[in-house]
Amino acid sequence: MLDQTHVERLEAEAVNSAKTRQPLYAARRKIFPKRASGSFRRFKWLVMAITLGIYYLTPWLRWDRGPFAPDQAVLLDLANRRFYFFFIEIWPQEFYYVAGLLVMAGVGLFLITSAVGRAWCGYTCPQTVWVDLFLVVERAIEGDRNARIKLDAGPWTARKLVLRVSKHAIWLVIGAATGGAWIFYFADAPTLVGELFTGTAAPVAYITVAVLTATTYTFGGLMREQVCTYMCPWPRIQAAMLDENSLTVTYNDWRGEPRSRHAKKVLAAGLPAGDCVDCNACVAVCPMGIDIRDGQQLECITCALCIDACDGVMDKLGKERGLISYATLSDYNANMMLATAGGSCPVTPSLVRTVDGKFSDKVAHFHIGKIFRPRTYVYMAVWSLIGLGLLYSLLTRDRLEVNVLHDRNPQFVTLHDGSIRNGYTVKLLNMIPEPRTIVVTMQGLQGGEMSVVGDDIPAGRSFAIPVEPDRLKMLKVFVRQPADQIHGTAQTFTFRVEDRASFEADEYTATFNAPETAR
Ligand code: SF4
Ligand code: SF4
Repeated sequence: MLDQTHVERLEAEAVNSAKTRQPLYAARRKIFPKRASGSFRRFKWLVMAITLGIYYLTPWLRWDRGPFAPDQAVLLDLANRRFYFFFIEIWPQEFYYVAGLLVMAGVGLFLITSAVGRAWCGYTCPQTVWVDLFLVVERAIEGDRNARIKLDAGPWTARKLVLRVSKHAIWLVIGAATGGAWIFYFADAPTLVGELFTGTAAPVAYITVAVLTATTYTFGGLMREQVCTYMCPWPRIQAAMLDENSLTVTYNDWRGEPRSRHAKKVLAAGLPAGDCVDCNACVAVCPMGIDIRDGQQLECITCALCIDACDGVMDKLGKERGLISYATLSDYNANMMLATAGGSCPVTPSLVRTVDGKFSDKVAHFHIGKIFRPRTYVYMAVWSLIGLGLLYSLLTRDRLEVNVLHDRNPQFVTLHDGSIRNGYTVKLLNMIPEPRTIVVTMQGLQGGEMSVVGDDIPAGRSFAIPVEPDRLKMLKVFVRQPADQIHGTAQTFTFRVEDRASFEADEYTATFNAPETAR
C-alpha cells in the first residue's frame, strides 16, 4: 500500500511492544522478520560469515608440532590433559592462561558495551548468528515476510507440508553440523569424522552431537528471540555497563515526531510533521518483534536492521538518513531539549531545522571522541595489562620443570656403615613435543650422592636420563650421606635439572633428614 509519500506502509505490528507488553505466560506470537538491506545488514553478513567460518573450519586447521604431538591447530585433548592452540601448548598446571583469557573476554565485553552498547548481542552472540542463519534458510524456502505470514496462516496443503518439512530438515542438518563441529575440538577431526560415520566413535561423541543438535535447532529455529528476552542474563547486566555516552540504537523522535502517514496533508493544514511517515518498515525487519520508536527496550539487541530499513525510507523521501541511528543518550537528550524548547512544548520539527530545511548547527551529532572517556580508558588499561601480563608469562615460561616429594615414611634410613639415606620422588616435566636428555645434579649436602632405583646408573652427584616428549617422568631417587659429613637433623640441598642442548634449567630445594645421633 503506497500513500502520498510513495513509501509502502507495511502491516507490521510490534508483537513485543513496550506499550502492549504481553503477560509472561502468554502464548508466543510468531515474528516474521522482513529481509533488510543496507550497510549494517552487509556488515552482519560479513560478521556471520567470519564467525561461522571460524567455528566450523578451525578444527580442520593443521599445525605441525613434530612427530610426538597432535597436528590439530586447536585441540582440547582431555585424555592427555593438554590444550593446543597453534604454537601454544597449555598443561593443566598452566590453566591460569585460560582463566586469564576468560577474564580478558569479560573485560573486553565491558569495554565494547560501554563504548558501543550491545554490539555483542547484535552481531557476534552465537544465538544472534545462528538465528540469522536459520532465517536465511526460512526465507530461501518459504519466502520473505508476507509469504511466510500467508503460509503460516493458511491451511495445511501438500505445498505447505513440503516447505515446512524441508525447512525443519535443513535446520536439523545445521544443528547436527554445529554439534559435530563442537566435538571436533576435542579429538583429531579427520579421524573422528570417519569414526562418527562408521559408528565406531565413543558414545559420548554421539550423545554430545545429539544434545547440541537439539539445542541449536530449538534455540535457533524455534525459540529465537525468546532466548534473548527470557533466558539470557546479559540484557539485565548490560544496563550497569552503559552510561549517557554509550552508543545505542535510538529512534530520534526529536526529528521524527509528530509522525504522520500523510505528512503533505498535515503540512498543508499548517500543522507540524516530523520525518517519520509511520511506514512500519523498522518494525517489520526487527527480529525481536519490537518497535524502536517506543524507546530503549530490554529486548533490543542493537542489530541495527531498523536503521537500514529506515535509511532506505529516508532515501526514498529525499531526507537525511539517521532518523533511527546509533546515538548516545547525552546527544539525544540535548536534541530533545532543542526540539522541545527546553521541555516547554511538544517536539516541534522547525526547532531543529533552519528555514531552508537543513538541520540546525545546534543539533548534536556523535563524534568518535565520545568513545574515549575515563570509563573506557580504565577498561582498556585493565584489558591491556592482563593481556601483556599473559603474553610476558607465556613468552618466558619454563618448558622444563622439576618437582620433588620427600618420602614421608620413613623420613630416613640408617645404613649398615652408619651413613643416612633419604628417599625422594623426583618428577621431571618435559613440556616440549621432543625427546630430550635431562641432566640431574645435586648441589650442596657435602659428601652426598644419589642413586636411581631400578636403573643401573652408578651412584654419584649427577646423572643424565632421557625423557620422552611432552611427558612427565617420575624417578625414585635415594640420597645417601656419610655419617661424618652430617651437619644437623634437617639440611637443605638442591636438585638441579638442565637440558644442555637448549640451556633450560630448573631447581628444587629439598630437605635431607637425619637422626640426632648420626653426628
Ligand atoms: S522510524 Fe523510519 S522506518 Fe520506522 S516507521 Fe518511521 S519512517 Fe518508517
Ligand atoms: S529495534 Fe532495531 S536494533 Fe533493536 S532489535 Fe529491533 S531491529 Fe534490531
